[in-house]
Amino acid sequence: MSDFLPNAEPRGFAVAPSVPCESCNNFSPFDPTDGNPVQAYLSGSAPRCIHCGTPVDLWRACVDHLEVFESGMIGSLPLGAHNLLCQFQLRRDELTVLDLHERGLPKDARVIHINYTPQEQGWLFPTECHGNVPYRQAIPSVLYIYGRRHGGGPHAESARCSVSVTWVRGSVDPAVSSLVAAFGEYAAERYESCIVPANVALEVTLERSMTGWLEALAVPKQRRVELLRELTYGFQLDPILGIAARLVGVPPLRQEILEALRALKKARDDLAHPRERVPDAKTASKLLCAAVFGIQYVVLVNSAVADRLAATQQSLEPPR
Ligand SMILES: [Zn+2]
Repeated sequence: MSDFLPNAEPRGFAVAPSVPCESCNNFSPFDPTDGNPVQAYLSGSAPRCIHCGTPVDLWRACVDHLEVFESGMIGSLPLGAHNLLCQFQLRRDELTVLDLHERGLPKDARVIHINYTPQEQGWLFPTECHGNVPYRQAIPSVLYIYGRRHGGGPHAESARCSVSVTWVRGSVDPAVSSLVAAFGEYAAERYESCIVPANVALEVTLERSMTGWLEALAVPKQRRVELLRELTYGFQLDPILGIAARLVGVPPLRQEILEALRALKKARDDLAHPRERVPDAKTASKLLCAAVFGIQYVVLVNSAVADRLAATQQSLEPPR
């Protein structure tokens, strides 16, 4: 008999911030499966509360969520995280091999958080086993889970166990890796250490987009390299990104987010000065969310620019 339950079909969904609606005070105010809420918000169509219909201030929700759940919920929507739920029968004093890819985890996924929940009163607790070197950083996609007896018993032969796996796409993408690292540092309460990787994630995304625009305009590689060397990240962010957004009809970035992005860059620059103040949890939460919203904004603008460049190219082609 399989240890995996027939009703344990894996499912994926974006993980929404667990913050109350500002209007009706209900928790989890919007459906996280509904597209990309951050991009919808940045496009001017904020998700609405499923309880009362009020537009959700997603920026505020994400910043507050991260600040409130700072230690355990790094796989939240700001990171673009997804969740995989599966169930299996945990066997007493035996190992169960849980291959997450077989359970529906995409091949390019990077696991960032795992939570076990024993479902029944079997007094069995899931305990991960490892080889000579226990993993500390990268969580493997194949887990060896021992059904350990705990509590006073009686201990059942087997008991149902749920596993909640939080993951992000892009296991080898440097922007994703940097963002995951930034959230990991935040979760470990090393607020100063999340500044550089958060900056890098946005910087990589922005420069990659601008390189694509220049390629589409047939600018030779050497000129592209020289231009982006001169046009540093600070100028790319402000004002070039805003100008591009305006030209392709993407709403301007909300002032509070733009200011947080400037503060993120300044925090990075200030790291060279040891006497500068170390960011606290509240500040780091805002800077980290600014990186995420900034990345999503770049993706949004980049998509609109690509569409416009393709349409322009078609209109310039001579009639056949
Ligand atoms: Zn509401």
